[in-house]
Amino acid sequence: MIRYPIAFAALEALVDAESPTWRGKAKVRTDGFVAAGKYEESSPIWSDVKPVFMKLQHNKCAYCERMLAAGDHGGAIEHDLEHFRPKSSVVDWPGATDFTFPMGAPCPPGYFWLAYHLQNYAASCKKCNSPLKKNYFPVPTARGGATTDPKSLNESEKPFLVHPIGDIDDDPREVIRFLGITAIPARKTGPRRRRGDVTIAFFALNNREELRRERAELLDSLGHHLETINDPTTSELRKSRAKATVERMLKPQARHSSCVRSMVDLYVANPVQAQELIDQARAFLDSLP
Ligand SMILES: [Zn+2]
Repeated sequence: MIRYPIAFAALEALVDAESPTWRGKAKVRTDGFVAAGKYEESSPIWSDVKPVFMKLQHNKCAYCERMLAAGDHGGAIEHDLEHFRPKSSVVDWPGATDFTFPMGAPCPPGYFWLAYHLQNYAASCKKCNSPLKKNYFPVPTARGGATTDPKSLNESEKPFLVHPIGDIDDDPREVIRFLGITAIPARKTGPRRRRGDVTIAFFALNNREELRRERAELLDSLGHHLETINDPTTSELRKSRAKATVERMLKPQARHSSCVRSMVDLYVANPVQAQELIDQARAFLDSLP
C-alpha cells in the first residue's frame, strides 16, 4: 500500500476535466440524501469518475497494490470505485472477533452524505472491494456525525483502515511494511500498530496466494538485480541497467512497490537477513503447485 498524493482542489479539477457536470450533479444528490437522512437512489453516477482514480493510482488497487488493466484495455471492468466509508448501512466486521479491542458499533444509515464525496473514493480490485471491504468500517471510538467531512472524520474517528488517496490520512508506509513477502505493521505499539494489524487482516494481505506469488516473483527478480549490482566481475553497463530496473520497481507506478521498497531498505541495513528472505520467497515459489 502506498500513498497517492493529491490536493483536494487538484482532484476536483481532474474530475471536472473528466466530467464537467459531475460535481454539480453530485451536490444535488448529496443535498437530497442529507435532507432524507439516508442514501437512496437507483442510478448512481460515481462510476463516471472511476477513470480519474484509476489514473491517479497508476491502475493499481488502492489496498493490495495489484496492477489491474488500464482504462483503455478494459480496466473499468477490473476496477471498482470503492467508498472508503460505506454510503449505506455499516455492519460489524466479522474479523473483529480476532482482536481484543473494540471496533465500533453498527451504523444502519451509514455515511450517506459521503456517497458523492471525492475524498471518500478509491479505485480497488474486486477482491478487496466485494468480499473483503463490503460495508464494514471498523473504528475504535464513536462514529462521527452526519455532514462531517472526511478529514474531520479521520481526526475524530481515527479509523483502523487507511485511505491512501490524497493527504488527509496517515502515509501507508507509516502503517504497513513488508518482511519478505509478508505484510507487517510498521510500528511496534500504539494506534498505528493497531491500524497495521487490522488493515493487514481486513484485506487478507498475507492470506491471498495471488498477492504472495506476485510479491515473491518481484523479490526473486530484485534478488537477481542486487546480485548483479554487487558482483565485482560484472560490467558497469550491466550494473547500471540493473540499477535502473530496481529504480523502476520502486516507482509508484510499479505493482507492490511498497514490498520492494521494504526489501531494498532491509538490504541496505542488513543484507544477510535480506538474502534469507529473498531465498524464502524463492522457496515459496518452488512450493507452489
Ligand atoms: Zn486489491
